[in-house]
Amino acid sequence: MNNSGRSSVRWRIVVVYSMLFFVVMALVSVFLVNRIENYQLSSLKENITNTVTESNLPTSLGGYASLTPNSAQIQQTLDYSWSSFTEELSVVDSSLNICASTNENLIGRSAADVFDSGIIASCLLTGKECESDTESSGNIPVKNLCYAIKNGSITTGVVYVRADLSSINSFVAQSKLIFIQAIAIALVVTFILGSVLASSITRPINDVTNTVQKMSAGDFSEGVSVKSDDEIGQLAQMFNLLREKLDFTLSEISNEKNKLSTILTYMADGLVAIDLEGNIIHANPAARHMLDIDQDEDLSRRDYNSILGHISENMQLSRIKGNCEYEGGQDIFFTENRVFAVRYDRFKDEDGKDIGIIIIMQDITERQKLEDMQKDFVANVSHELKTPLTTVKSYTETLMDGAVDDPEVAQSFLEIIDNETDRMTRLVKDLLQLSRLDHRQEKMNFSEGDSVRLVKMCITKMDITAQQKQQQLNAMFGDPGQIRVNMDKDRMEQVLMNVLSNAIKYTQEGGRIDVDILKNGGKVLVTVSDNGIGMSAEELPRIFERFYRVDKARSRSMGGTGLGLAITKQIVEEHQGTIEAESSPGKGTKFTITLPISKHKGIPNIE
Ligand code: ADP
Repeated sequence: MNNSGRSSVRWRIVVVYSMLFFVVMALVSVFLVNRIENYQLSSLKENITNTVTESNLPTSLGGYASLTPNSAQIQQTLDYSWSSFTEELSVVDSSLNICASTNENLIGRSAADVFDSGIIASCLLTGKECESDTESSGNIPVKNLCYAIKNGSITTGVVYVRADLSSINSFVAQSKLIFIQAIAIALVVTFILGSVLASSITRPINDVTNTVQKMSAGDFSEGVSVKSDDEIGQLAQMFNLLREKLDFTLSEISNEKNKLSTILTYMADGLVAIDLEGNIIHANPAARHMLDIDQDEDLSRRDYNSILGHISENMQLSRIKGNCEYEGGQDIFFTENRVFAVRYDRFKDEDGKDIGIIIIMQDITERQKLEDMQKDFVANVSHELKTPLTTVKSYTETLMDGAVDDPEVAQSFLEIIDNETDRMTRLVKDLLQLSRLDHRQEKMNFSEGDSVRLVKMCITKMDITAQQKQQQLNAMFGDPGQIRVNMDKDRMEQVLMNVLSNAIKYTQEGGRIDVDILKNGGKVLVTVSDNGIGMSAEELPRIFERFYRVDKARSRSMGGTGLGLAITKQIVEEHQGTIEAESSPGKGTKFTITLPISKHKGIPNIE
C-alpha cells in the first residue's frame, strides 16, 4: 500500500501548492509588467506634452495665420530650439502638409502618407490634444501625439510628435523576461519547499498507515511518533490512544479466548457446538474422545448427524432443533459400552438471533455403575441379613411350637440359631469395617514390623484348621531374615488370615496350601497358593467385589460373608500395596500380596 505515485497526497499538495504559486506569481507579474509599461508610456507622453506645452511652440506657431507660407521660419525655429529634442517633431498645416520637421526627410511631404492622419484630423477638428499608437514605415512601434496650433479660435495646424517606443518595449520585454526567470526560480524553490511541507504533513499519515499495516498483521508494539502539537500531532496522539485501547481490548479478548480454550480443552464434559445447518463449529477433546473421533481430525467436513445424530433418534438434528425452539433439551444415550447424559440449548449472536446449538455430554458410565452397585449392595445386605433372620425366626417358632420340650431337638435348634446369629454378627462387623475403610475412619496403627515373622505366625494359627481338613499348610521359605514393612500389624494379620482361610475353605480335604515370602526390589511378595477348586477367568476379576461369591451356597455354608476379599483389598491398598489372584478351575488359586519394604532401618522388632 505504498502510495508514492502521482495520486499520493504528498504529490498533490506539491502540485497544487506550486500551481497556486505559479498562478499568483503570473498574475502579479502580468500586473506589474502592465503597470511598468503604462508608467513608461504615460511618463513619455507627459514628458513630451510638458516639453511641447512649456516651450510655447503651439502658441507661438498660432501667431501665423497660415503655416505653410512660413515654413522656412518655422523650420528655423525647430532647428534652433528642438535639435536636441529626442523625439521626432513636425509641424503640419491644416491641409496636412508637413511644413517643418526635426526629421528633414519629412519636410514638404504629405502627413497623410507618413503620419496617422486620423488623429491629425480629429485634433484639427476638436482643437484638442490627440494621440495614437502605430508603427513607423520601418515597423518600429511609435507613439503619435498631436497638439493643436490655434490662431484665435481657428486651428491652423498641429504639432505632431512621433516618439519611438522600441526602447520602452524592449524594457518591458526585458522586465517580462526577468519576471519569467524569477517565477521559474521561485517555482523550483516552491516545489522544494512544497515537498518539505507536504512530507511534514504526509509523514505522520504514512507512519499511521505503516503502523496500521503492522497492526493488521497483529503487531501492536510500535506507535506513531508524535512530533508536533498541531492537528497532525493530535491525530497521531489520538491514533496512539486508539492503538493502546485496541491492543488492550484485543489482548483481553485473546486472554478470554485462551481461558475459554483451556476450559474447553480440559473440561471433563464433552462439548460440541454446531450451527443451525448442522455443521460442526467445535468439538472439545473430551467430546472427541467420547465420540471416538480422532483428536486431530478436521471436523469442518463432517456434519452433526454423522457424529452424534446417528446415535439415537432423539439426538437427530431436526429433533434437537425442535426441542431448542422453546427451551433446551436433555437426553441419555448409550454407545457400545458407555452411557452419556446430554444437555443442549441454542446460542445466540449479539442481536439475539439463534445461530447454533451447544451440546454438553457427560460420561455417566461410572456414576451409573456406582448407582447400580449401591442398589446391588443394598439388595445384597438385605438378602444376607434376611436369610439368617428367616432361619432364626423359623427355628424360634418351631421351638415355641413345642420343640423346646425335646431337649435334643431344642439343643440342635439353639445351636443353629446361635450360628446364624454369629453369622449376622460377622456380617454386621464386616459391613461396619468396610464402611469405616470407605470413609477412612478405620484407625490404622502403622509401625515397622517384620513381615516374615507375621506370615509365620499366621501359618501357625491356621495350621490347626488346615489339619482338620487333612491339608498341608507349607511355609515354602527358608530363612529370608527380616523383611521390614511399615504396617498395621492387626490389619495385616486379618489380611493374611483371610487369604489363608479362603485357601483352606476352597480346597478339598487332603489338599495342599503353600505360602511363600520373598523380596523383589523394594517390595515384599507374599504368595498363598492352593490346589483347591479354583475359579474361571470370568469370575476372577469379580472376587474383590462386595458380596461376590463364586458359589453362594458353598460360601455361606462355610460361614463366609462375601466381604472378606473386599476388606482385604482395601486394607492392602491402605498399605500402598496390591493384591492379585491367578486361578484355574479345578487346579487351584494363587494370591499374591505385594507391600513396599520399609526404607528406614528401624529398631529390630520385639514382637
Ligand atoms: P467369602 O466370605 O465368601 O469367602 P471372600 O470375599 O473372602 O468371601 O471371597 C469371595 C469369593 O472368592 C469366595 O466366595 C470364593 O468363591 C472365591 N474365593 C476366594 N478365595 C478362593 C480360593 N482360594 N479358591 C477358590 N475360590 C476362592
